[in-house]
Amino acid sequence: MHQKPFWKTKMLDELNRSEWESLCDGCGRCCLHKLEDEDTEEIYFTTVACTLLDAGTCQCSDYVHRKKKVPDCVFLTPEIVRTVDWLPETCGYRLIDEGRDLYWWHPLVSGSPDTVHEAGISVRGKITAFDHEMKEDEDYFDHMMRDELPS
Ligand code: SF4
Ligand code: SF4
Repeated sequence: MHQKPFWKTKMLDELNRSEWESLCDGCGRCCLHKLEDEDTEEIYFTTVACTLLDAGTCQCSDYVHRKKKVPDCVFLTPEIVRTVDWLPETCGYRLIDEGRDLYWWHPLVSGSPDTVHEAGISVRGKITAFDHEMKEDEDYFDHMMRDELPS
């Protein structure tokens, strides 16, 4: 009899370190800057990436030292996953927290880190600028995410 994989049986709080890390699908979407409408509190994704995001791999280029280099980088925890409203619906942490299953393109399901890109879920090819290129806050308006990424 096959044992069910950990993401089908465990809650976020029960994951060990390597299980936790592997739940990230590598989409890079959380490393894009977001804008919030002050009136409606709605979140809008831009295509402006954090300076440390590698546009090709969609991985953080200095994951170990990210907090030192980007102080407002948010380290995800189960509590933060449940609290923030800017994780995309496709985020592996969000899916498991909501009792849903991972999609076919998640590396844990497909066995390949490439499927998140092949399925058009990652930000590969979608980044139009990096935050260090933004001079004014208003500059972000020129880089609004136009297309809803597939889920
Ligand atoms: S949105 Fe979620 S799955 Fe995608 S890179 Fe961020 S933490 Fe990982
Ligand atoms: S520091 Fe790394 S993990 Fe944090 S937002 Fe930037 S690219 Fe993403």
